Amino acid sequence: MAMTSEWFRRARRRLCAALASVALLASPVVACTSHDSGKITIGVKFDQPGLSVKRPDGTLGGFDVDVARYVAARLGYPADRITWIEAPSGQREMLLRNGQVDFLVATYSITDSRRQKVDFAGPYLLTGQSLLVRADNTEITGTASLQHHKKLCSVSGSTPAQRIKDRYPGVQLQRYDTYSACVEALRNGAIDAVTTDDVILAGYAAQSPGAFKLVGERFSQERYGIGVRKGNDGLRQRINDALEEMERDGSWRAAFVENFGAAGFSVPEPPPVGR
Ligand code: GLU
Repeated sequence: MAMTSEWFRRARRRLCAALASVALLASPVVACTSHDSGKITIGVKFDQPGLSVKRPDGTLGGFDVDVARYVAARLGYPADRITWIEAPSGQREMLLRNGQVDFLVATYSITDSRRQKVDFAGPYLLTGQSLLVRADNTEITGTASLQHHKKLCSVSGSTPAQRIKDRYPGVQLQRYDTYSACVEALRNGAIDAVTTDDVILAGYAAQSPGAFKLVGERFSQERYGIGVRKGNDGLRQRINDALEEMERDGSWRAAFVENFGAAGFSVPEPPPVGR
C-alpha cells in the first residue's frame, strides 16, 4: 500500500530485512508487512469452520475469509496477492501493533478496551456468546448450570473468556489457545462445555453432526470489526467503503448463506458500519 514516501519505503525495507536476519521480526518499531512487495497481509483464524478455516489442501474458506477477500479486492489486491497469517485470539492486538498484518478479519469483537490499542472498521457481523455441550448432555442448559463445578473452556485473549471471569466467578474456566482445542477437549470429556460466539460454536456443531449442541440463549452482544493499526484512518475508511459495497451489491448476503446455511441461521440484515 503506497502510503509512505519512496525514501521511507526503501529505508523500511532495508530495516525489515535487517530485523529479519536477526530474527527480530516481532519488533514493534517498524511495520514489516509484505505490502512492500505489492502484496497485502491479512490475519484470520485457521480453525473456525463457517468463519475461517484452512483446509488440508491449504486453501482458506468461510465468511471472514470471503469478507477479507472482498475488501482486499476493493483495495486493489486480488486473491493471488494476499498473504494469509493465522491470528489466534490472544495475538491479534500484537499482530497489528507489530505491523505483521495489514488488517485482521478474525471474529474480532469491537470493544472499548481493544480500541485503546487498535482501530476497527465495521462492524460487519453481529453475534453473541453462547454455550456448546456434548449432544447427550442434559445437565447444562444455560449459564446458571455452569456454577456447579462444571469445567468450561474458552480461549485466552477473547471477550467470552473475560466475560466468564468477570460475571461468573463460580465457573471453572479453562483457557486454551484455540477453540478447536476446546472442542477436542469437549469431545473427549476433559471439559463439560465450550463458550464463545454462537456462529463459531454452530460451525463446530455443523462439522460433527450428532456430536454437539448449542444450549441456552445468547448472553452477550458481539460486533465483529476489521482490525487495523491504531491511527490508520485512511485504511479504516477504505475498508468501511468496501464493506458498504459488499452489503449493497448482494455479496454479503451470498457469503452469509453459503457459509452459515448448514448451521441453520436465517440471514440477518447486515449491520451499518460505524463512521
Ligand atoms: N468475538 C470474540 C472475541 O473477539 C470471541 C471470538 C474470538 O476469540 O475470536 O474475542
